Amino acid sequence: MGNISLKTEQSKKPRILIVGGVAGGASCAARARRLSEDAEIIIFERGPFVSFANCGLPYYVGNVITHEQSLLVATPELFNKRFNIEIRVQSEVLAIDREKRELRIKNSLTGDAYTENYDFLVLAPGSSPIRPPLPGIDLPGIFTLRTIPDSNRMKDWIVEKNVKRAVIVGGGFIGLETTENLAKRGVAATIIEMLPQVMPPVDPEIAAPLQEHLKANGVSLHLGDSVAKFESGQIHDTIIVTTKSGAKFECEMVLLAVGVRPEISLAKEAGLEIGALGGIRVTNQMRTSDRNIWAVGDAVEVQDFVTGEWSLIPLAGPANRQGRIAADVILGRESSFRGVQGTMVCKLFNAVVAASGVSEKTLLRLKTNGKEIPYEKVYLHPGSHASYYPGAKTITMKLIYSPKDGRLLGAQAIGEEGVEKRIDVIAMAIQKQASIYDLEEAELCYAPQFGTAKDPVNFAGMVAANALRGDSPAAHWANARESGKFILDVREPSEFKAGHFESAVNIPLPTLRNTMHELPKDKEILVYCGVGQRSYYAARILRLNGFQARSISGGMMTYKSQRQVQST
Ligand code: FAD
Repeated sequence: MGNISLKTEQSKKPRILIVGGVAGGASCAARARRLSEDAEIIIFERGPFVSFANCGLPYYVGNVITHEQSLLVATPELFNKRFNIEIRVQSEVLAIDREKRELRIKNSLTGDAYTENYDFLVLAPGSSPIRPPLPGIDLPGIFTLRTIPDSNRMKDWIVEKNVKRAVIVGGGFIGLETTENLAKRGVAATIIEMLPQVMPPVDPEIAAPLQEHLKANGVSLHLGDSVAKFESGQIHDTIIVTTKSGAKFECEMVLLAVGVRPEISLAKEAGLEIGALGGIRVTNQMRTSDRNIWAVGDAVEVQDFVTGEWSLIPLAGPANRQGRIAADVILGRESSFRGVQGTMVCKLFNAVVAASGVSEKTLLRLKTNGKEIPYEKVYLHPGSHASYYPGAKTITMKLIYSPKDGRLLGAQAIGEEGVEKRIDVIAMAIQKQASIYDLEEAELCYAPQFGTAKDPVNFAGMVAANALRGDSPAAHWANARESGKFILDVREPSEFKAGHFESAVNIPLPTLRNTMHELPKDKEILVYCGVGQRSYYAARILRLNGFQARSISGGMMTYKSQRQVQST
């Protein structure tokens, strides 16, 4: 489609004003220009930069990204020359007059305030880091990380104060990524996290190996506790962080990474509808309750693709796509946002954790709130590539799906390599409302360096489909504690000796056909092995011989993660 000729009430040359010039705002502006040569497009940005890589900030703090310049994806000059888009930095939009379709703007360099009219307004103000009103919160050395100036302040402080110890409040991805980057600079970090796990988007048994990995890399974890106050230490320039449980941590620097809150003050004061979660309410075309105003990015509430629930998902991908959709709709296209899946990835030291779709804990919370979505789950631990090719690493995967028709609901994985590509494939499958049976049939890239002829994604589908078809119904470790079960360990005696489930009986898989007559036929037999593969074979042998047998999903490897969860 060529340029769209626009007719508006005000003029033949429509004015599109955009508040916020980073992910959502900048992508909206650039897309709008690609659809219209006529439109006048102006971005107002409060800060000194537009289109900067906030996702790169932790790596800039860690000196992995060495130059501030590298964080500037595009400059005002580039926007002007390449796209004929006017950028006004250091320009804060103070108010919206919806009647007059007018913005009030303050130039923070000169202090001057002025107004500008719009035909279409796009709000992309993002979200701001939460600063809980705790005693001592304003002490020097306590930082949040959102902008380039924030990261420069942190970098300067690290050098000036010769920071060796930091407390990171919050174990989400910004806290964790910054922890890793501080470690690269020789700063030992303690993470204080209110929840009993780090990385809240994933389930505890997927976070457990990540926690072990963090500890192995020298990170101290203080979980299930929250900060009560900050005080100046006895020694010059130190901060004492005291938690609600009374634990104390002394450090030279604190990063507050306890989450973000949508920036809605402009929208709220203009009387736009705000959702129950505190984000700007928009339609799937990113339109607010005012027909001439759109909103995108961290500031908006959008519907979860899987659950249909309203949610706040502060991620760059959705912000960029939403910006593009707003521009499309403003310029006459019928684009619409499909909803969020929360697809995420994070690399910490050598570990990569990724997820898409709904987690089990979210499903359990929804159930408690009266909105039950039936689900089943399987665990598996395939190799990242063919085991005969050097360097394969284990990936731990959890797949959640509907027991009715196998529709995919969510997936999570942790490992060292090949994690995000598996989750990306499943993310697309979730969005296309595909099922575990589609994963079985997916035709994916294969050469020994990259995967296996049956890729972990195929495997995940096969394991789940085996369970759902009834060939090998899945059991879980929680079932092993139910009464009346016979627990069978089919690993080799040496593996059994090294550690096993307390009541388990050991019959190694190769001897099972000859010894199975010793097993009970009046009890359900739950079979396990190292990762769930031998136990699957064993369960099939037993079921074909008239036993009631199920394989425990994920085997001992999943058992260990669940034990770690219980011990935290
Ligand atoms: P922003 O990108 O925050 O832009 C909003 C802009 O609006 C700001 O620059 C602000 O100054 C400006 N503004 C606000 N109010 C006004 C006003 N009244 N007038 C003028 N200007 C205003 N996401 C991922 O998917 N992956 C990652 O790895 C990742 N890492 C991150 C790391 C860090 C440290 C941070 C802070 C975020 C990270 N994110 C990541 C999140 C991602 O950056 C955000 O989801 C995304 O930038 C949101 O885009 P946005 O356009 O809604 O808001």
